[in-house]
Amino acid sequence: MRLAGKIALVTGGLRGIGQAIARRFAAEGASVFITDLDDAAGERLPAAGVRYFRADVAREADWARLAKAIGEQEQRLHILVNNAGTDGVGPVEQLPLATWRRVQAVNVEGAFLGAKHCHDLLCRAGGETTAGASIVNISSMLGQVGFIDTSAYNASKGALRLFTKAAAVEFASKQTPIRVNSVHPGFVVTPLLESGLERMVERGVAESSDAIAQSLSASTPLGRLAQPSEIANAALFLASDEASYITGSELYVDGGYTAQ
Ligand code: NAD
Repeated sequence: MRLAGKIALVTGGLRGIGQAIARRFAAEGASVFITDLDDAAGERLPAAGVRYFRADVAREADWARLAKAIGEQEQRLHILVNNAGTDGVGPVEQLPLATWRRVQAVNVEGAFLGAKHCHDLLCRAGGETTAGASIVNISSMLGQVGFIDTSAYNASKGALRLFTKAAAVEFASKQTPIRVNSVHPGFVVTPLLESGLERMVERGVAESSDAIAQSLSASTPLGRLAQPSEIANAALFLASDEASYITGSELYVDGGYTAQ
């Protein structure tokens, strides 16, 4: 029960990595809120007792409504995981500006708005312990290295990496009791990855999704793709009081991909 008594919010919690994080946090004793875009949430909830809010992380009005609701129900927030993310696959010379902007709006602005609107709730919880409250931003190993036809996503995850450090330094310097860190997954088996592979097949990059998955595995030192639960383990550590002296750091969970 490493999160006993803690209130946590995980964005994009209805599937993939966010669902695994919410499930793990609940198993470790946290009271978990999740957000997502879908209305029909019930059967996809990560665990019993998880509270669901429909909210688009790219919309400031949604964040204001969400923070107000958490304030009314729990008065404070110990953990914010900015997980919701999207991709926008395509070559630079063909990528629509609207696609580029939507990727930045969700992946970068969403995390900024989360930190902004949850700041006061996090401060209230963070003052309870020396470990402080914790923001965990789910970036990507593609926030550090480039990849084919992924420029919008690469740029957004690189920006999220540095927003994490900026907020960490700012909060620490002002004795604001919020630690901020980023997690950088490698290739993880989720609906996002699967749809990305299918679109690569449609564009003729390879013959099948399986062929691309095999080549991604082969290019990863550990020789396989990751499971969402393996990313959840890293988020759990950074969210917990065990990471009390860690802020502004980046944790790679990429099977050694960026170590090459
Ligand atoms: P996913 O698409 O399987 O799940 C993401 C969830 O976020 C979905 O339920 C989706 O509806 C929700 N979401 C998307 N946009 C949203 C918005 N604007 N507001 C609220 N909810 C929104 O994706 P995933 O693979 O689980 O990815 C989760 C995070 O991990 C993302 O930030 C992604 O960039 C990052 N990541 C994924 C991989 C990977 O290989 N799957 C690798 C590195 C980083």
